[in-house]
Amino acid sequence: MADVKLTHVKKIYSNKIEVLHDINLDIKKGEFIVFVGPSGCGKSTLLRMISGLEEISGGTLEIDGKMMNNIPPALRGIAMVFQSYALYPHMSVYDNMAFSLQIAKNSKQDVDLQVRKAAEMLQLTPYLNRLPKALSGGQRQRVAIGRAIVRRPKVFLFDEPLSNLDAALRVATRMEIANLKESMPESTMIYVTHDQVEAMTLADRIVLLSEGNVEQVGSPLALYEHPANVFVAKFIGSPAMNIVPCHIDQAGEITRVSLSSAETVDVPILTDASEQGKAAFFGIRPEDLGLVDSQEQGFVSGEVAFVESLGEATLLHLKVKGCQEMVIAKQAGTLKIQRGDLVHLSAAPEKMHLFNQNEQSYRRVS
Ligand code: ADP
Repeated sequence: MADVKLTHVKKIYSNKIEVLHDINLDIKKGEFIVFVGPSGCGKSTLLRMISGLEEISGGTLEIDGKMMNNIPPALRGIAMVFQSYALYPHMSVYDNMAFSLQIAKNSKQDVDLQVRKAAEMLQLTPYLNRLPKALSGGQRQRVAIGRAIVRRPKVFLFDEPLSNLDAALRVATRMEIANLKESMPESTMIYVTHDQVEAMTLADRIVLLSEGNVEQVGSPLALYEHPANVFVAKFIGSPAMNIVPCHIDQAGEITRVSLSSAETVDVPILTDASEQGKAAFFGIRPEDLGLVDSQEQGFVSGEVAFVESLGEATLLHLKVKGCQEMVIAKQAGTLKIQRGDLVHLSAAPEKMHLFNQNEQSYRRVS
């Protein structure tokens, strides 16, 4: 089990376009790290560079303190699980899992022990004699994971392993992977996904990427509660955080801002006097907005443009005066509110966010 360290790593493909810029990451032994970000941000490229399937154009990759840039994939002590499973169709589940160990000339007993142990962990024991075509997508992906486990790698790499599964199987297999993490606490795991729910539920730490840059590294809760910038704020959480342009009227330990709707809000976030008068962005999550009875009790009012009933919750899409984009409020349960109603909203001050005109977060007063 190993530490993985990336220092000033970049990637330039043959078309000369730099797709990853100066990536610095220190992944600790036993951590479950998730690379997440929108399609094309470079997360698969980064994973493939760690695996050795893709050349590193600049910077260094170390695994357990050893420079790995020019070490072939097979000698890096890693195992990779792909989106497409990549199973051998003519081999049984047992043989699929045993194959790499047999090639490496492990004893028959050792192969058998490792395969049965992995099968047990992944609840595949009843299927050991089946061919992959006689398995569900989720079971096939578990075989692919089993094949990685038996090799006892220092580092597991997962490249969008759930994206070929339907919604129900995705949730079930996600649980399997979470269990796997629990039963192999020493293993370092790096997992790529574009799905923020997978990132939030699986990661010890998330690395959020955008256009080849790391936007923020931190625990799921840290990214949710203290997003470093507007990009992170909008990417983590669903529906996305409401971001409303505002002006800083009064800087200080409590910053007074006027929203584009002309209403003012006191936000318990520290701003420097030099920020006074500047444009900024006020942020509030849909689930942190509450309905109140009157305008005086709230800080903003809006007309309901449409109502989405999800059963356990209701999403209110609101037209707020002066705001270009709709503001979304998420309320528990079902509500007797209709299109055209005027509603008033409040929020706990500690749930409010404030970003400067470059979309970077101001420091929160704790
Ligand atoms: P992600 O996994 O986040 O969707 P990728 O790592 O696949 O992103 O791609 C990052 C960027 O690199 C994209 O702009 C993509 O078009 C580009 N890219 C990926 N593979 C190649 C390649 N073989 N040659 C040139 N550009 C590539």
